[in-house]
Amino acid sequence: MQADTSYIRTIKDRCRLCYTCVRECPAKAIRIVEGQAEIIPERCINCGNCVRVCSQNAKQVVSSIPQVESLLDGSCRVAACVAPSFPAEFSSYDYQIFVGMLRSLGFDIVHEVAFGADLVANQYYKLLAASDGKKRYISTPCPAIISYVEKYFPELVNSLAPIVSPMIASARALRVLHGRELKIVFIGPCIAKKCEAGGEQVIEEINEVLTFAELRTLFAQRRITADTIQPSDFDPPYAGLGTLFPISRGLLQAADIPEDLISGSVVTTDGRSNFVEAVKEFADGDLDAKFLEVLCCNGCIMGAGMTTTVPLFNRRGRVSAYARRRLQDPARKRPEDLSSWDTLNLSRSFVANDQRLRVPFEEEISQIMARMGKFQLEDELNCGACGYDTCREHAIAIFKGLAESEMCLPYTIEQLRNTINELGQSNEQLRNTQAQLMQSEKLASMGQLAAGIAHEVNNPLGVVLMYAHLLLEQHGNNPQLKNDLQMVVDQADRCKKIVAGLLHFARQNKVVLQRIDMSELLDRVVKTTYLPPTISIHVMRQVNDAAVDIDPDQMIQVFSNLINNAQSAMPNGGRLTLGVAGDDATLEVRITDTGVGIPRENLAKLFEPFFTTKQVGSGTGLGLAVTYGIIKMHRGDIRVESNADRDAGPTGTTFIIRLPRRGQNRESA
Ligand code: ADP
Ligand code: MG
Repeated sequence: MQADTSYIRTIKDRCRLCYTCVRECPAKAIRIVEGQAEIIPERCINCGNCVRVCSQNAKQVVSSIPQVESLLDGSCRVAACVAPSFPAEFSSYDYQIFVGMLRSLGFDIVHEVAFGADLVANQYYKLLAASDGKKRYISTPCPAIISYVEKYFPELVNSLAPIVSPMIASARALRVLHGRELKIVFIGPCIAKKCEAGGEQVIEEINEVLTFAELRTLFAQRRITADTIQPSDFDPPYAGLGTLFPISRGLLQAADIPEDLISGSVVTTDGRSNFVEAVKEFADGDLDAKFLEVLCCNGCIMGAGMTTTVPLFNRRGRVSAYARRRLQDPARKRPEDLSSWDTLNLSRSFVANDQRLRVPFEEEISQIMARMGKFQLEDELNCGACGYDTCREHAIAIFKGLAESEMCLPYTIEQLRNTINELGQSNEQLRNTQAQLMQSEKLASMGQLAAGIAHEVNNPLGVVLMYAHLLLEQHGNNPQLKNDLQMVVDQADRCKKIVAGLLHFARQNKVVLQRIDMSELLDRVVKTTYLPPTISIHVMRQVNDAAVDIDPDQMIQVFSNLINNAQSAMPNGGRLTLGVAGDDATLEVRITDTGVGIPRENLAKLFEPFFTTKQVGSGTGLGLAVTYGIIKMHRGDIRVESNADRDAGPTGTTFIIRLPRRGQNRESA
């Protein structure tokens, strides 16, 4: 047994982070790190609240069964000291059967700790009777309360009544009767007893501590059941009113101390929130009591080492019924005369073990609150979902390293909402990319198809053209034949153009990049383009540095395609502007015309090969498809803004090309 440690472990896989244990821990000894609840051993008071409230059974008590088994299998005599709350747990059979079962486990002596309670009660009576009324006391049968005071109210250590617990009193009495070699196992409802037994002030008085839950496991392991058992009674010394000890107020009743509510000199309380409040008020001096009887659980019958699920008052009823039966049983041996035990030393001392953490300054609290999006009083919802009663307490716990800001539900929901938005955005981007990818794929397969056809058609077409020209030369004088032959030559020429366009479209799979000044390139394009005088054209440079990595031949092709289209869109003349803009990473070229514009329904089909609105013979529908392919090969993008509706404003079209300034030579698949 070891003091100042935790006998409770968290099974991380089972922890679902509901923060119930955080909320229920009176010592705030549970910390959440990286989304896992973890007990801080030096802060834990082993009250077992977390074990009791965890619906996932993620908190488990460290077992003492192996150690008890080796005591039972050893050569020394072993005594079982049974806590007086046992009737609340083992109610399905008579107490004599229960005692018999303990004996068949191998215990040589089965003793009722209720006797130790009698001794202790007597001691309390003496302490208070001898008190001058100035000194104030906190009762000390509850090891979790002792731990709590030592760790969180170290200034109150001297107020702890310097009296051992009934467990230790029993052990001391048994050693007087049976010698120092006797091994003693305490069996009770309490996890904190494991810790108490290891305390330096009572070292080696109790050898092991079993909870009732562990005892049940041991019975099951050794196949000990009620039906095969020889009934038996407890060994002396016998208990009196100490039997009532596990019920709250039992100590007072046993010690014959009236809970004088009128003068308020004795105050009794129990349970997680009550005891915390009572000790705090006792320390502050707000609670003007000479004697504070306080239990961590709602009486020991609610201890965390029990397995029964019956409610509080039913358990109380069982303990009282047992006490009544024992005290009134005519066949019963008389309770021990306590005066013969006057010389037994029942005193002990306590040592402060300060575990208080520094309370943060107001400014530090505000900073932490701000991290959780709490800037004003209205932002503090105090919803309690984090396991702390208020946002402030949560912030203080974060400061102390006990909590994380993610425990704040409204904050986490807000975070989630942001994440969902971001996800939505990247989803949208993905969708766009996917659409572009599909377009590229379509173009690629079109390219393959086109290349195949163009290749096959090109040669026979050359032959047709050659012979048509030959025939025209030979029969150019015959007016009848001349017209027909001219028709053949013209149409074959047209086919040749289409095939050349197709071949180009199919071959645009390689870019050879050069650092080029875009403005200068455009000036060159403008100079070499023929436009009717009704169309004005000019380059607008809006950046100082227009340098960009491009394949100039291919880009010239792009601009002449776009300029051709713009020209076709302005049959009655207009204005054509080539704007160069951009930032450090990207260069932007805008080709704007004041033409007829593109109807909305055509916008989506614009870049598809063979889409054209031009008359048969004047358009192949390949210009923009080729353009698109070249821009993509430059890792750029091209989009269009257009208005074809005169009622909506001036018509016209702008093609916007964006190119990365620093390019990468590459070849498409
Ligand atoms: P083509 O010029 O052979 O028709 P393109 O791929 O170059 O093929 O253009 C496809 C179609 O897009 C054109 O027929 C025309 O309807 C439309 N278009 C392209 N550019 C413009 C523009 N600047 N103004 C109006 N319509 C345009
Ligand atoms: Mg065109």
